[in-house]
Amino acid sequence: MPAPTVSASGYDLRPFTDADRDKHAAGFTPEERHVILHQGTERPFCGTLLGNKKSGVYACRLCGLPLYKADSKFESGTGWPSFYQPFDPAHIREIVDRSHGMIRTEIRCARCDAHLGHVFDDGPPPTHQRHCLNSISLEFFAEGEKPEQRTVGA
Ligand SMILES: [Zn+2]
Repeated sequence: MPAPTVSASGYDLRPFTDADRDKHAAGFTPEERHVILHQGTERPFCGTLLGNKKSGVYACRLCGLPLYKADSKFESGTGWPSFYQPFDPAHIREIVDRSHGMIRTEIRCARCDAHLGHVFDDGPPPTHQRHCLNSISLEFFAEGEKPEQRTVGA
């Protein structure tokens, strides 16, 4: 069965091609490229969204797909923005990551394959998940602002 092109929450899930990725990453800084395109990790307690307590939505920095809602953000003490559930499970993709001598679950944007962070099972109720994100992989939109999804093949 082909993957759905629109998620249950109504967002475009048509996958980015390499050309789409290159185009939308063209203005990235070296650190953005390192984290988002090459599975890097920003230093803890440095991300600009760690202390953000406003209501709204966190979207993918590369393609604009909403990934997490502010009301699922919690203070994990790890130094990275943490959420107990995604905006829509179809908006993220989990991959087994065996780098650095550990087995972890990497999370990427389901649409553009941007690296987001990792998910762990030591989060708070109701899910007990801890989605540990890089601020740099996210773009915050306050309540009332709508993330603009970047188009495929444009
Ligand atoms: Zn994306």
